[in-house]
Amino acid sequence: MLADSDPVDLVLKNARLIATCDDDERELDGQWMAVTAGRISGFGPSGTEPDASRTIDASESLITPGLINTHHHIYQNLTRAYGPALEGNLFHWLTTLYPKWARLDEESVHLSTWVGLAELALGGCTTTTDHLYVHPAGAGDLIAAEIGAAKELGFRFHPTRGSMSLSQKDGGLPPDSVVQDHDTILAESERLVGAHHDATFGAMVRIALAPCSPFSVTPELMRATAELAERLDVRLHTHIAEDLDEDDYCLEHFGQRPLEYFEHVGWATDRSWVAHCVQPNAAEIAKLGEWGTGVAHCPSSNMILGAGMAPVAELRRAGVPVGLGCDGSASADSASMWTEARNALLLGRLRSGMADRTPTAMRARDALDMATRGGARCLGRDGEIGQLSVGACADIAVWPLDGMAFAGALSDPIEAWARCGPAAPSHTLIDGQLIVDGGQLVADGSEDILRQHRRAAEAMQAD
Ligand SMILES: [Zn+2]
Repeated sequence: MLADSDPVDLVLKNARLIATCDDDERELDGQWMAVTAGRISGFGPSGTEPDASRTIDASESLITPGLINTHHHIYQNLTRAYGPALEGNLFHWLTTLYPKWARLDEESVHLSTWVGLAELALGGCTTTTDHLYVHPAGAGDLIAAEIGAAKELGFRFHPTRGSMSLSQKDGGLPPDSVVQDHDTILAESERLVGAHHDATFGAMVRIALAPCSPFSVTPELMRATAELAERLDVRLHTHIAEDLDEDDYCLEHFGQRPLEYFEHVGWATDRSWVAHCVQPNAAEIAKLGEWGTGVAHCPSSNMILGAGMAPVAELRRAGVPVGLGCDGSASADSASMWTEARNALLLGRLRSGMADRTPTAMRARDALDMATRGGARCLGRDGEIGQLSVGACADIAVWPLDGMAFAGALSDPIEAWARCGPAAPSHTLIDGQLIVDGGQLVADGSEDILRQHRRAAEAMQAD
């Protein structure tokens, strides 16, 4: 804790409530919070604030940890709401878009990442993963291009080296133009970890390895990637059990359900976190809990694709770390972690109400916990991000709960945050730095970037 006389970098004062999401789930009323050198450095009662270089008056606001996005494909904001892909299921959507995505290059990845991260920061997100699994021949170093955009904006970033190795000629879903051979994928994965992965506390960039899905990579690549992740001590990510078509595909091609296959290829570990997991059965839920494998719940994407209602309450009861992901941007189309928290609340209540006429299996505090602590656990960073406690990274969102949308919401700021709205942060801090200040992006140049992004999107969507 601070000594009384220690000056600090920044103080947040007068908040209606600070939802710490710490081990004791403390909710602080009438307290200030201080930030020093990128870390949370202290709390204290209102009226005893330390001297600070900057003071933010958070009156009428809820302060939460910055939200954590555990599943995204940022490049897809170049093909959002793309009409020809929208009138079918997941496989139709993918096969329509693969040829467009084959046009990706370093410039379009840089632009889409800059826009995607700015959009996430404006929605209170402070750490995001990105699952970039399209690496067309000659496209350049796409992971380095997106890390460059994250550094320009000061975003805490977990790019995953995605991969596809099973093309249509071998029984997979993607065309030849977007798949790579095993040796290239594994060599590139190892090179990127060596070049960018930072394992230290407070790291701004960490790399994970992420073969795309059972229907776009070979079992051999799944196995080899798990072994490489073990050797390099980095995390593993993939899509699994997203919809019933995937169940059919896995039974037909592997004679196994998706999570049986997942275990068979060596991924049943707490090193892994998986996107969607909409269709696990009861035995598989228990196994996920035993393995400690995390789940990125993507409620908006699951609803848009009609994939189903993930058994989130059951997964959490089984001890599975569950975070939230906005997915997309072309499947969920929006990229707001507040929206995902709200949709997780609504979908969880719908599912539980349909099961036993009692919708209370999901509350706003569950949604907030998944958006913060749950995300940190999925990324192997519990204790570091996703909570407001002394020594943790100063990744913070300040949510004004005033104006028309919150009028009358007096009794419970956390339920108000998720149930009313739309909510948007007045301030988003990452590593103690203001990324959003007064509801505006601090970084210059967004109009110019948006113009360039439009040109890149037009080129990608052209016939
Ligand atoms: Zn996805």
